[in-house]
Amino acid sequence: AGALYIVATPIGNLGDISQRALDILTQVDVIACEDTRHTQRLLSAFSIKNKTMSMHDHNERQRQEQIAALLQEGKSIALVSDAGTPLISDPGFHLVRYCRQLGLNVTPVPGACAAITALSCAGLPTDRFTFEGFLPSKSGARQTKLAELTNEPRTMVFYDAPRRAIDTIEDVVSVLGGERYVVIARELTKTFETIHSDTAENLLNWLQEDPNQLKGEMVLIIEGHKVDPDAISPKIIDTLKLLLEELP
Ligand code: SAM
Repeated sequence: AGALYIVATPIGNLGDISQRALDILTQVDVIACEDTRHTQRLLSAFSIKNKTMSMHDHNERQRQEQIAALLQEGKSIALVSDAGTPLISDPGFHLVRYCRQLGLNVTPVPGACAAITALSCAGLPTDRFTFEGFLPSKSGARQTKLAELTNEPRTMVFYDAPRRAIDTIEDVVSVLGGERYVVIARELTKTFETIHSDTAENLLNWLQEDPNQLKGEMVLIIEGHKVDPDAISPKIIDTLKLLLEELP
């Protein structure tokens, strides 16, 4: 059987494509892509001529059978998304699971991923972190999601649309507090790349003063909850209260 290659593509700067990605995209029998026109532009930038087929959220289940059949015939296939690493807030999970269940060969061809790229320059702890994907677009649901994460000690990574950035940071200020440290990594690897870090409150002012910061694409990184070593845990306070009641 052939192999299914999961190929990462650049998140902006075309120079970030790997030599191996170029070789695989040239050699495979067909490239499954989120948006064929988008991928055609990438291929023409590198003078690669190859067949493409669409595979997006709406036809993934149907495509997985066709792709598995092609692999079983010995064909090799590359999966790419519009930018970055497929499956990371992008289609491909169902296809990869299906192929792995059938014992087919699934091979990674690593490269750019916006979350990891942002983390690498954010200056927040990276020994442990959580990837939270996209926050809900409606404020109520977003606040609920942030409230669930209030005590999360690990660094949190989110994808978001910059046009929503002010609303999102307002919610961060109201739910996690204005002192929480936040990093906005916008237009990574592109001309207007900006990596800005500050407290949520100061970031909000900065965004409100500079509308240019509300364009393009962005990753939001929020510092984890810091445990105050001197704070008495609520459980101990409850126990102390009970003991106090017993005192004469
Ligand atoms: N699979 C992609 C990856 O590996 O990063 C992510 C796909 S997801 C649909 C798109 C989101 O990734 C954007 O809304 C933004 O949050 C983030 N993103 C992608 N490219 C970016 C860039 N150049 N700068 C900042 N964020 C980016």
